[in-house]
Amino acid sequence: MALFNLIRRNADITVGRVKIQKYSDFTRNLPVPANINLISIKPLRAMLNHATTEVFFDDLRVPAKNLIGEEGKGFRYLLDGLNAERILISAEAIGDARWFIEKASAYAGERRVFDRPIGQNQGIQFPIARAYAATEAADLMVQKAIGLFDQGEACGSEANMAKLLSADASWAAADMCLQTHGGFGFAEEYDVERKFRETRLYQVAPISTNLILSYIAEHVLGLPRSF
Ligand SMILES: Cc1cc2nc3c(=O)[nH]c(=O)nc-3n(C[C@H](O)[C@H](O)[C@H](O)COP(=O)(O)OP(=O)(O)OC[C@H]3O[C@@H](n4cnc5c(N)ncnc54)[C@H](O)[C@@H]3O)c2cc1C
Repeated sequence: MALFNLIRRNADITVGRVKIQKYSDFTRNLPVPANINLISIKPLRAMLNHATTEVFFDDLRVPAKNLIGEEGKGFRYLLDGLNAERILISAEAIGDARWFIEKASAYAGERRVFDRPIGQNQGIQFPIARAYAATEAADLMVQKAIGLFDQGEACGSEANMAKLLSADASWAAADMCLQTHGGFGFAEEYDVERKFRETRLYQVAPISTNLILSYIAEHVLGLPRSF
């Protein structure tokens, strides 16, 4: 995904017409060939349904003809792709948060305890309403980052803030949703526990919350670099 974002944003890289090709041809033609034994890929069993792997590169040499763009500018190209990735993940986190809010609202309306729906209690309503407000606020930053990116403008701060706010909103919504479901929040059939595990990822990947705060402190607020 990052590779394709990188290609789309850099006019000095010619990629020609998009074509469909066999997977074996695709891997053979990658800038870093994936079908040679200097790269090893080890599946990593994890708490969520990503096909997660560790990738090891040992003494790998890449042919000069495989260079993308200009020598020495690789990290800059990569950073551009990382902003796109952060914005995409932010939108995903917003989707998760909205799923939790809808799921919690529906359950709070139908589950009856002491002859009334639990959603009639402010103790249940308020966390759902708070999660909704936080999610919509985070989405405003996501939309701002998307707008800047689409216009080719610098969007590092906005992409990072969108990722921070949406990850926090989805995690808070997940916690609220599980609590609203009581014991059934832990039952597989409601999907809440699965999504709860999945949305926790955004506090860590593709960039951890601390590293975003550190970026804002240093690059937006001008504070000394902390590492
Ligand atoms: C399911 C999954 C899928 C992933 N997919 C990809 C992928 O497709 N591509 C890819 O490249 N990576 C991927 N990752 C890796 C992911 O991007 C990293 O795990 C993430 O960026 C955190 O890096 P780390 O694990 O090295 O943590 P570390 O850097 O070891 O950090 C550990 C903890 O210390 C904190 N920390 C570190 N340094 C500082 C500091 N200076 N100040 C304050 N706190 C600090 C971090 O915030 C974190 O909480 C994936 C990870 C997971 C779990």
